[in-house]
Amino acid sequence: MCGIVGYIGKQSVSPILIKGLHQLEYRGYDSAGVALSGEAAEGIRVYKAKGKVANLEAKVETLSPEAQTAFTTGIGHTRWATHGEPSETNAHPHLSMNGELALVHNGIIENYQLLKEQLVGYGYTFKSQTDTEVLVQLIDYFYQKNGKQLTKAVNQALNKVIGAYAIVVMERENPNHLVAARKASPLVIGIGEQNAEFFIGSDATPLVEYTHKVIYLEDEQIADIRPSEAVEIINLDESSANVNIKDVDIDISALSKGGFPHFMLKEIFEQPHCIENSMRGRVIRREDGLYEIKLSALAHFKAKLIRARHVIIVACGTSWHAGLIGKQLIEEMCRIRVEVEYASEFRYRNPVIEKDDVVIAISQSGETADTLAAIQLAKEQGALVFGIVNGVGSSIARAADTGIYIHVGPEIGGASTKAFTGQITVLTMLSLALANALGTISEEQFQEICRELVEIPAKMEVVLKQNDTVERLSNRFTYARNFLYLGRGYNYPVALEGALKLKEISYIHAEGYPAAEMKHGPIALVDKEMPIVCLATRDQLYHKVISNMQEVQSRNGRILAIVTEGDEQVKRMAQEVVEVPATLNCLTPLLSVLPMQLLAYHVAVKKGLNVDMPRNLAKSVTVE
Ligand code: GLU
Repeated sequence: MCGIVGYIGKQSVSPILIKGLHQLEYRGYDSAGVALSGEAAEGIRVYKAKGKVANLEAKVETLSPEAQTAFTTGIGHTRWATHGEPSETNAHPHLSMNGELALVHNGIIENYQLLKEQLVGYGYTFKSQTDTEVLVQLIDYFYQKNGKQLTKAVNQALNKVIGAYAIVVMERENPNHLVAARKASPLVIGIGEQNAEFFIGSDATPLVEYTHKVIYLEDEQIADIRPSEAVEIINLDESSANVNIKDVDIDISALSKGGFPHFMLKEIFEQPHCIENSMRGRVIRREDGLYEIKLSALAHFKAKLIRARHVIIVACGTSWHAGLIGKQLIEEMCRIRVEVEYASEFRYRNPVIEKDDVVIAISQSGETADTLAAIQLAKEQGALVFGIVNGVGSSIARAADTGIYIHVGPEIGGASTKAFTGQITVLTMLSLALANALGTISEEQFQEICRELVEIPAKMEVVLKQNDTVERLSNRFTYARNFLYLGRGYNYPVALEGALKLKEISYIHAEGYPAAEMKHGPIALVDKEMPIVCLATRDQLYHKVISNMQEVQSRNGRILAIVTEGDEQVKRMAQEVVEVPATLNCLTPLLSVLPMQLLAYHVAVKKGLNVDMPRNLAKSVTVE
């Protein structure tokens, strides 16, 4: 979900758009573009560039000064690819086939394939691989049919669309008109003096230097925007909506990074929304109230996946921890043997890979050199390679036979957070879908896990509300030179991930251990100086973890426990406690990892360290 800017009024539009796009750069993106028009200009002019907004700016600057002043209406976009690789052609704005409409879009159109087929049947042709181009053509279809009433056409089209969107549309025939709409992706309209001009943004950042009067569009609302007229808002069902004008008084400097002091914190807080995006169009609630899981990757390779007798997960770092959770999920639900390998070891070890094996490669960027090399090896040996990546069109996405994007948006903070929970979400959906196809899970279990999975974003919000608590308690731990993280079952990889987060950004030495293993060595380290993070949520291993905690307690270790809401027993044993809502065992990591991320973040901030760019670390590890 990336950035949108828009303007309509009397000023020269391109500097406003370019500045606005620069202000939205903090959201992360892979390409950018603008569409310009105006009463004194001819038609709609589109500029796009792959990479930085500066590349786009250089192109727009080639406009003559006369043209600059003639363009007074425009829309701009920074894209983070979800459908189709990052490229100039796939960058927004997209034009309808006849060039009459231009559109920018944040979000995902789930049913774009079906709509595209219908539009092809009506004679539409497509230039890009995006879902967005389908939407602009669909709007055009209704626009041509209804006598070129743009707002009505947008309404008709959006009634056919399943998915998430914030959009702004402009029309060649009337440069004094913009139509904006949203569903599950924010959009703000800024009102200039006496309604003479309007500013649009996917958040208030690019607006606030011009106006403090804004309208936050609500879900399924469409705004009709014309200079010198009041904004009209209708609902998707065509009823008219109240226009609520709010006063925003935001300090612009606080707005970079979306108001958060660091990208890492922004990304931690984005997770509920990211998980929703990851499940969008994949976990589907049918009309009868039951759930199904639709994964196109599975549909195409079903036979091979079902035949797999052995799954090998290859990954590095945080993705490897997600892989350990994936192993438990797949083994438990699908009853298929799973091994999890460090890609760097796997590639040099002459591993046993058989023709019917499935190799799952997990990587946030999709560019991790060792993982890429590991899948090349797997392909040579005839295994099916399944990618789980965030970077659309990345090297691993292209090299894999099939796969699932995690769709959590750009991750900028050096320490991975939302990619981890996105990877677990995808691994859960994959395990559920595969188990369903294999018949290794009962319908009741399947439904129960799906029902609980869709509740996870709301439960994540509950955990994030304890940010202040974690911040406060982190004060007590900044002195530490060593940390131990303990967990069992599904929480064991979370312990590893918690320790890794702390190491990465606070430079405190930390070890993650399966709780019961502690007595085979690390217990020798425990004294009253040693903080021990215990993941003690209420699952089938709860009582076992309590016994392990008792071992720590009797050696005066300082316990910070992650517990299920309402737990009293662990509270009595721990110095500090963070509660997470109850959920199913297999979904616990999606909640229990959040306090781990927050703890690492706050300890590092208290130590005055650069959390977003930790020393010696690269975000995308493209060397082996
Ligand atoms: N789904 C659209 C695309 O891939 C929009 C992505 C975005 O939100 O930037 O082009």
